[in-house]
Amino acid sequence: MAESVLAAVRTAPGRTEFREFPMPNTPDDSALLRVEVAGICGTDVKMYGKPPYPDPVIMGHENIGVIERAGRGFTERHGLVDGDRVFVEHYIGCFRCEWCHRGEYRHCEATDWRTNPDARRYGYTTSDNPYHLWGGFAQYMYLPWNAVVHKVPDNVSAELAGIVTPMSNGIEWALVDGGVGYNSTVLIQGPGQQGLSQTVACKQAGASLIIMTGTTRDAARLELAKTLGADDIIDVQVEDPLERILDVTRGKGVDVVLDCTSGAGVKPVLLGVDALKRRAGTLLIQGEMSSFPDFPVKKVTEKAITIKSARGHSYHSCELALAQLASHRFPLDLLTTHTYGLADVDRAIRSVGGEVDEGVIHVSLLPWQGA
Ligand SMILES: [Zn+2]
Ligand SMILES: [Zn+2]
Repeated sequence: MAESVLAAVRTAPGRTEFREFPMPNTPDDSALLRVEVAGICGTDVKMYGKPPYPDPVIMGHENIGVIERAGRGFTERHGLVDGDRVFVEHYIGCFRCEWCHRGEYRHCEATDWRTNPDARRYGYTTSDNPYHLWGGFAQYMYLPWNAVVHKVPDNVSAELAGIVTPMSNGIEWALVDGGVGYNSTVLIQGPGQQGLSQTVACKQAGASLIIMTGTTRDAARLELAKTLGADDIIDVQVEDPLERILDVTRGKGVDVVLDCTSGAGVKPVLLGVDALKRRAGTLLIQGEMSSFPDFPVKKVTEKAITIKSARGHSYHSCELALAQLASHRFPLDLLTTHTYGLADVDRAIRSVGGEVDEGVIHVSLLPWQGA
């Protein structure tokens, strides 16, 4: 095993430097992950431009790799040995608090960087913390006893497993939060990797109507949405989406609306409120904005709309996502449009953000490519 680990480190907003860290001396209850794939999503774009956490930070929070140097304690706890391929969740819970005992460690204070300056979360936490390797944009990552790992099925490649995070979010938001199931009608706004993954989750769960909206520059993504199971696609810049939704649903509106847009302002929520059925629909929102001028609170309450917050995924949703990938029922490999080596991490993040390379949906960073 190498003596040092090469990592891409964010040292300031929009700035990456490459650093070598010493291979950490890992305790008996921990392991190392030889990172194979680190997925890059819209959150990386935001965090790269406006770091939420003091630098230096090794970003990369959607990580797949192979276990190396698993200590005895780690193997006893996790049932994993060197050579096992795993998906690592970015949450690192305390496993003592009530949230953790309920299996909802994503809400644990120990991993909540918003309220706890000493929180641990892959891709967010500073590399100044002990063991340094707290992100996937590096050749190795540190796995403490409380890392949450899922074994990747043998028939799922590392690259395909890179879709676990958006797919598990799709299952969590659409099925668990939104209650999408047999015969549901759904509007999904935004055909990025997140919206496309929701399409598959809804289709698999039995939705009878899936409508996907996007903009003119999303043309190829909207076509992919159809391939993955969307029944109708709407370019909101070409036609009035509400008119079309009401037309397709014979005036009824949809049961569930999922907002997977980015930087679209108040419009997706306003469309969602209008597109929902007469009573008791569910609207899943992202909350990019700190305020919402003229929020239509009267309409929301009169329609008895339930608003849910998009907030990551549970252990169960990750397991279901892996099962979905292992089924090979949907061509989810089409989501990964670009791969980059570690040296190109800056370009990779900017491409996800719509700069540099075009036609990007899901991006995989391969830390060993060209190494
Ligand atoms: Zn992400
Ligand atoms: Zn906890």
